[in-house]
Amino acid sequence: MSTLVRKHILKIDPYEAGKPIEEVKRQLGLKEVIKLASNENSLGVSPKAIAAMKKALPQVNRYPDSSGFYLKRKLAKSLGVAPANIVLGNGSDELIDIIIKTFVEEDEHILTADHTFLEYKIIGSVKGRTVTTVPLKYFKYDLVSLKKKIERNTKLIFIANPNNPTGTYVTKYELEDFLKDLPQGVILVLDEAYDAFIDVDDFPNSLSLIRNKNVIILKTFSKAYGLAGIRLGYAVTKPELAAYMEISRQPFNVNLLAQAAGMAAIEDKAFLQKTRRMVLEGKKYLYDNLKRLGLAYVPSAANFILIDVGKDGVELFREMLKFGVIIRNMRQYGLKNYIRVTIGTKRENERFIKVLKKAL
Ligand SMILES: *Cc1c(COP(=O)(O)O)cnc(C)c1O
Repeated sequence: MSTLVRKHILKIDPYEAGKPIEEVKRQLGLKEVIKLASNENSLGVSPKAIAAMKKALPQVNRYPDSSGFYLKRKLAKSLGVAPANIVLGNGSDELIDIIIKTFVEEDEHILTADHTFLEYKIIGSVKGRTVTTVPLKYFKYDLVSLKKKIERNTKLIFIANPNNPTGTYVTKYELEDFLKDLPQGVILVLDEAYDAFIDVDDFPNSLSLIRNKNVIILKTFSKAYGLAGIRLGYAVTKPELAAYMEISRQPFNVNLLAQAAGMAAIEDKAFLQKTRRMVLEGKKYLYDNLKRLGLAYVPSAANFILIDVGKDGVELFREMLKFGVIIRNMRQYGLKNYIRVTIGTKRENERFIKVLKKAL
């Protein structure tokens, strides 16, 4: 059958998602399984978002609002931008796809880092674009090297900030330098999926860049907002770029329940605060215990931690699975002796440490 498929598709290592809880229960006959593999929100869903979705349920015989009018208006207000600055997506994954098909010609290149969010490379490759990567430096995006790699046909640069899977972040000073003489014909995408967990002072205020630079910011409801299953993300950029993205997206890419959930989630400040508190406290607990175990980790600005386990991470992943703890092995990221764990509830973090000890 491989003769039927476009040749570049054959070369792609497809995205390996975090293992679902139900699948592990079924396959291993386990009753109590926890998942700390996909940087989801262990607190659950905002009660306000649940109520809004319930209320919207009887309307799903109708198509969703193609323009996402009310959600955009609410988002714009909360960000201090105009609705015309916003493009909605079926998760920010879809926006990565929309950005590439809107802006990158077949012979133009995409630039990003090694050991970053896999979807930049996978979606770019599926679309037949060349994706060039630059090594991280001390687990961080190296913006100096990244800039040196820009060539005549470089069109798009992806920076995940904070980065997944390392949790490191690019500071406002580094970003300012990087933007200084960035060629006019290059678009920079700042993927800020984890910005809600930031507790440092030197994180860039990316929204201030969209007026004068060709910058597209990506945000998602999948992580801090606890809505990964409903698929909702958005891009913020100058109206001209947003308008081109609007042309290339599918008309009903954001479903009716997602629009309702998103509007309610923005309002639920208490849920976001509670989530932040859980993550910051959990991070401290995990750091302390990893130190106690003599394990090195990368300090994280996000809701997950990259840990050097000193042995094959896939093996450790399988071992922990037997005890009902799903974490992420870093095989596909090319970080062999590492695992990535999402910071969960207090109980989940305790169970993770207990099982990690056993598995080591
Ligand atoms: C999780 C993640 C996303 C995916 O977000 P969705 O909105 O669920 O598609 C995007 N970028 C990064 C860096 C992520 O870690």
